[in-house]
Amino acid sequence: MIDFMLTTNDQKILDAVRREALVCRSYARHYDEHEDEFPPDELPEAGDFPPTMSLFAGREPEDTGLGVMSMLLTAGQTWGDYSVRMRRGKGGLGNAALRAAGTPEQQQKWGGLTLAMAITEPGCGSDPSRVQMTAVLDEATDEWVLNGEKIFVTTGCRAQGVVVWATIDKSAGRAGIKSFLVEKGAPGFIVSGKEKKLGIRADDTAAYVFDNCRIPRGNLLGGKEEIPQESSGGFRGVMKTFNMTRPAVAGIGLGIAEAALDFTRDALREAGIQVEPGPGIAAQSAAAQRFLELEALYEAAMLTVLRAAWLSDQGQPNNLESSICKAKAGAAVREITQGCIELVGPMGASREHLLEKWFRDVRITDIYEGTGEIQRLIIARNILGYGREELK
Ligand SMILES: Cc1cc2nc3c(=O)[nH]c(=O)nc-3n(C[C@H](O)[C@H](O)[C@H](O)COP(=O)(O)OP(=O)(O)OC[C@H]3O[C@@H](n4cnc5c(N)ncnc54)[C@H](O)[C@@H]3O)c2cc1C
Repeated sequence: MIDFMLTTNDQKILDAVRREALVCRSYARHYDEHEDEFPPDELPEAGDFPPTMSLFAGREPEDTGLGVMSMLLTAGQTWGDYSVRMRRGKGGLGNAALRAAGTPEQQQKWGGLTLAMAITEPGCGSDPSRVQMTAVLDEATDEWVLNGEKIFVTTGCRAQGVVVWATIDKSAGRAGIKSFLVEKGAPGFIVSGKEKKLGIRADDTAAYVFDNCRIPRGNLLGGKEEIPQESSGGFRGVMKTFNMTRPAVAGIGLGIAEAALDFTRDALREAGIQVEPGPGIAAQSAAAQRFLELEALYEAAMLTVLRAAWLSDQGQPNNLESSICKAKAGAAVREITQGCIELVGPMGASREHLLEKWFRDVRITDIYEGTGEIQRLIIARNILGYGREELK
């Protein structure tokens, strides 16, 4: 049975996370307007809060699954502010990739670093099987030699290392693509730029060049140098990363959308509009009715995220559900934040409030980790039983 009721223990953890999230929110506008500044790892006012992970000590078997809790935690933190929170947090997308594709020894060795993940290239985004970056083994020195470019690398400036996708044999197509761990400071690894962005500005987005970059042979994640017979064997391994990160990206967007809903509910109340789920549509003002529709959209999207995480907690496949929640949330958060701006009128567009920022911040939910169009393709293939070649 699926049950998302929280235990008292879990509720206490989430309450603490939300209190701390408000500290991040107090810095949100500053780092939105000062994109070149990096927020400090520790915010002074956050010093009184115990580290989130320590709140997990003493968990009981009946407590909520860790996957589900991590989605609620993520949403709770980004409800404060996405990019200030990201900037302060340890770990990045590359850490999820390391957990999905690395051997236990590799996870032990690099798990403590903040790792970015670099797949996208100037000519390759939605279809990662078109990765052009190459990795050639130099048997004489037992090193991989990497050559190519990566763009739009989240946390790419701040990260201590990166998981990059490169092909060891272009003629093998998807099967030739492997992931490698490159630490900052590796010879030939250059951070070549930092993007200026629409939203999530406190979190840096980098461009990389790998110019005959040399890394040890053991930095191939998973350690398997051979090209699998089955065309998608190795590729499928690295794609597993997304089953863990897509629900998280959806949760991030929904945390921001919830902040927008809370702001709008207060603004409506101040304007004398009471939002009550009880009375039927005929008894509501148009504004209250629209607000309730947006709130219901949020709830529906959040349930899809929790379901994907719950399946992962149960050790069940969640490839389909990960794409469903990413597609659902990507569209929902855009409608919710835009709807909130429409409901509150001009103050929704004013930089005196964070609503216009949240509207900009959520846009990325439907872009990275696979766009909405790509999620819908994956969903259709799963439901209809088509392969990549039959539906693309
Ligand atoms: C702020 C930001 C942070 C990012 N962080 C990272 C990161 O950390 N690591 C990383 O590797 N990448 C990152 N990306 C890149 C992101 O994953 C890509 O932008 C995304 O995958 C889309 O690729 P593309 O931009 O090349 O678009 P394209 O693949 O060129 O797609 C362009 C448009 O065509 C649509 N489209 C493509 N193929 C199909 C199809 N078969 N059917 C229907 N429609 C289709 C897409 O949905 C999109 O709307 C980031 C991007 C941004 C903006």
